[in-house]
Amino acid sequence: MALDRFGRNIHYLRISLTDHCNLRCIYCMPEDQTFRPNADLLQDDEILTLTRLFASLGFDKIRLTGGEPTVRANIVGIVRGIASTPGIRSLSMTTNGILLTRLAQPLKEAGLQRVNISIDTLDNDKFRRLTRWGKLEDVWKGILSAEQAGLTPVKLNAVVVKGYNEEDVIDLAALTIDRPWQMRYIEMMPFAGVTDIQTQQIVTAAQIQQKIESEFGPLEATGKYDGEARIYRIRGGKGELGFISSVTVPFCSACTRARLTADGVLRMCLLREKEIDLLTPMRNGASTDDLRALILDGVWHKPWGHGLDEGLIPLNRAMNQIGG
Ligand code: SAM
Ligand code: SF4
Repeated sequence: MALDRFGRNIHYLRISLTDHCNLRCIYCMPEDQTFRPNADLLQDDEILTLTRLFASLGFDKIRLTGGEPTVRANIVGIVRGIASTPGIRSLSMTTNGILLTRLAQPLKEAGLQRVNISIDTLDNDKFRRLTRWGKLEDVWKGILSAEQAGLTPVKLNAVVVKGYNEEDVIDLAALTIDRPWQMRYIEMMPFAGVTDIQTQQIVTAAQIQQKIESEFGPLEATGKYDGEARIYRIRGGKGELGFISSVTVPFCSACTRARLTADGVLRMCLLREKEIDLLTPMRNGASTDDLRALILDGVWHKPWGHGLDEGLIPLNRAMNQIGG
């Protein structure tokens, strides 16, 4: 078990497979973002070596992310390798869904259990404005393919941005009336790259909930949390709504996560700049024990929480370079 100095059992690893992406969402990266060359990224065997190492330390839950994880070459093989690592009991992915039409079934067969798919609006033009390059239809087909492949329960993520999609939270919520899906609303967080939008156009979880309740009436509180999301229902609805208030009501005290970036750096808090390089020592021949010690030291010093309240915005990476 990997404990931090506050007694939290850190057992959930988010692995970013790439910083590359086939979209350019306005809240994630600038349109002219440059990406790391492949040689600087963890190679497939390095990902599996680190997965085994983390699993040996008690990490049992993995989420693959990016950038866009489905654009990574050999994604199905990587999923198969991680899924068959002893000790890993939960394997999921966060994706923009665009490539799921062809990948959902092979990913499921390789051992992926669930996906979270990002969809911020059901309006074609607004979707294009938010993602700069995306076609809503592709994502919708991806969602249906995921459901058909059994990558369930289907969970959808929306980042809400003032002036872009704050009205659209209602149409998205309506999806859960007849479908057993979970629609999750995420408060926009600030990172390097696009801090103006991120700090000035945030819509809070409370404002999102109010907007949804103005249409559907008071939501039913389930009293449940799913990860960091507070779970509600529209009365009589088959699905669920989740609110993720990382900025206004942080869930840091219950955080059990670590992040491994695509370039092999361990980040113990999404919103803190401190990083522990694992790739360089690994390529320089560090032993398993050395790497294990680096990870355990990083875990031990996991910060209690983020510093947004104190005005500390992490500026050393954009969101796609960390892994959401
Ligand atoms: N490309 C995949 C996707 O979009 O789902 C996975 C990576 S993306 C960085 C992971 C999640 O972070 C997505 O749900 C995305 O909407 C969210 N995200 C990106 N930028 C964000 C920001 N500034 N604040 C909050 N969430 C953000
Ligand atoms: Fe790509 Fe996901 Fe970032 Fe959008 S949020 S640009 S899909 S990595």
